[in-house]
Amino acid sequence: MSQSQLVDRILVNKPEADKAILNKAYIFGTKMHGRQLRASGDPYFSHPIEVAGILSDLKLDTTSVVCALLHDTIEDTNATIQDIEENFGREVAKLVDGVTKLTLLEGKPDSTKQAENFRKLLLASASDIRILLIKLADRLHNMRTLHFIKDQKKRKRISRETLEIYAPLAGRIGMQELKEELEDLSFTFFEPKIRDILKERLRISKKKKSKIVQFTKKELEKTLKKNKIKCSVFGREKKPYSIWKKLEIQHKSLEQLSDIFGFRVCVETIQECYEVLGILHCEWQAIPGKFKDYISTPKKNGYQSIHTTLIGPQNQRVEVQIRTEKMNDLAERGLAAHWIYKDNDDIERDYLSSIEWINDLVDILNRDGATEEFLENTKLELFLDQIYAFTPKGTLVPLPRNATALDFAYAVHTDLGNFCSRVKINGIDKPRRTVLQNGDEVEILKSKSPVALESLQEFVKTGKAKSAIIRSIKEKKSHNQRLLGKAIIKSVFSSHRKKPTRDILERSFGALQVNSLKSLYELVGRGDSSGSQVYDLVFPNNKRKKIKKNYYIEKNISIPVQGLHSDMPAQFAENSFLVPGDKIVGIVLPEKGIIIFSVDSLELVNYEKSPESWIKLEWKKDIDFTFTSRIRITIINEVGVLNSITSTIADYGGNITNLILNEKDSDFYNLIIDINVNDNKHISDIVKSLDGLPVVEAVNRFIG
Ligand code: MN
Repeated sequence: MSQSQLVDRILVNKPEADKAILNKAYIFGTKMHGRQLRASGDPYFSHPIEVAGILSDLKLDTTSVVCALLHDTIEDTNATIQDIEENFGREVAKLVDGVTKLTLLEGKPDSTKQAENFRKLLLASASDIRILLIKLADRLHNMRTLHFIKDQKKRKRISRETLEIYAPLAGRIGMQELKEELEDLSFTFFEPKIRDILKERLRISKKKKSKIVQFTKKELEKTLKKNKIKCSVFGREKKPYSIWKKLEIQHKSLEQLSDIFGFRVCVETIQECYEVLGILHCEWQAIPGKFKDYISTPKKNGYQSIHTTLIGPQNQRVEVQIRTEKMNDLAERGLAAHWIYKDNDDIERDYLSSIEWINDLVDILNRDGATEEFLENTKLELFLDQIYAFTPKGTLVPLPRNATALDFAYAVHTDLGNFCSRVKINGIDKPRRTVLQNGDEVEILKSKSPVALESLQEFVKTGKAKSAIIRSIKEKKSHNQRLLGKAIIKSVFSSHRKKPTRDILERSFGALQVNSLKSLYELVGRGDSSGSQVYDLVFPNNKRKKIKKNYYIEKNISIPVQGLHSDMPAQFAENSFLVPGDKIVGIVLPEKGIIIFSVDSLELVNYEKSPESWIKLEWKKDIDFTFTSRIRITIINEVGVLNSITSTIADYGGNITNLILNEKDSDFYNLIIDINVNDNKHISDIVKSLDGLPVVEAVNRFIG
């Protein structure tokens, strides 16, 4: 189609169209697509021109037609969205961008199961209803030229996609004609043999029955004319695809179907529709159960018509659809027909308001007068509370709006959420709390062990993710408590040369009100009981060794350090684990008192410029209580390894008070163990003996 042919065609449909901008878009598109060719061998630009023609025939606004001319420039040429905005303005740029985004989603869904979700995704992604209409016209022209594509597999895939996604989508917005053409074209490629057979059978039966059709049509017209009804009567030709569907779904034979004649009666008013119905039912016998009144109760997509089946003039079954001209137009061209009737005063508001998902759009339509404004405000995504994201394999996952990547992980599988350490969205590393957008492809990367989810609790939207996180945190906490409890009990028992076997430990169950080892370990790990209490309960007659009091438990014991001032409060530096024998120094802070640091503490750098605040300190001799020291240890992940660690510590008289497990990977554990010791020789003996164990990879004291 030449430039002037296209513009003429548009002007026929819409005389007020802006010629200048159409010409500009035509030239821009020609230049951009340059020498690119279609599979047919035609210049590439012939495709956007045809798409523009389809939209023009739907009587869409000039903006839509301009966008149709430009719709492949971003995807397939060097043009950028900025170029388009500069040349054609913001609105056009927005629409072209929208169409490009839909194009990028093509070919992604992996199975029929996903089709409904994918249709919703397309609806939701099209922020302006025109984007969807351009996309459908684009698909229609691609289907019309699909026979040029040589690759059979590709043809099948595209046909299947059209059948499962785009044709139903056209139906959803009420565009029956477009839907049927898409279906029929797909059918041609998808089931070419079946279609050929059906077409041939239809041709034969049509020829055979054409006399009956002619006769019935005349009889219908005569009868209605006699009753002074002005109308047009059409014989309806059935499309191979819809027949095939009926054969498949209703399990009917082709004879049963092709024995039915279809007619359509179009009249002016709704009242006449019911008059026609009355007249036909008087003249010919109606088949019970076949009457449907979609005028008083329209279909979900807004379709309105009366359907009835009669025993016709020659004792043939005759299906009749009765509707107004306007209903006919709306049924065939759906949403696209709205703008035409929009200018009409007696717009059928009932019709519009009956389209379920367009209800809100209709409100906008009724409030704001101008068609342009209606189009601009038609943001479909406002009316959909869900979004759809892809797995890398192309499965669509529906999620509530504002859901995050972590929600996505939990939606796929609870374990995927619990082990989700990183996410990639559209191939790029993103935080797990990232809110997903429609069409995002989300890849979840798993760690080998459950991850810390505490800080992410507030960033999930779905109930599934929320409860899974709470469960996982609880489970991890009690897991750690059990480990710790077990370690503490072992340590106390082995310091008395006893083994805490199940039989022995069970003797404490009654007194401690627990019924399993698990809950006993948890009780001790939580601190609700102690290892010593358990020991005393199971060996009531064995007096425990007198153990030194602990400095941190007996807080009222004064700090056993020489050189402090009696009138100044003193304390150990926060997060330090100093024991007698460690080299220490005091820093005097007027408002806090004296802070005791290890001489190796990195924090001392902060006081280098004020030597006057440094004071010399030394530990007192003969201290009769223990101090908490801390070690960091990396051990091989093997059965019984924790046991050999705790018993080694116990063998040296160390008392484990805390054990924090940070799983590093499947081969190694990283542990932090707090041990009560007498002095620094005591702890360094323990560290040395731990270091000698074959299961220990590394061990260090942490002083602070
Ligand atoms: Mn295209």
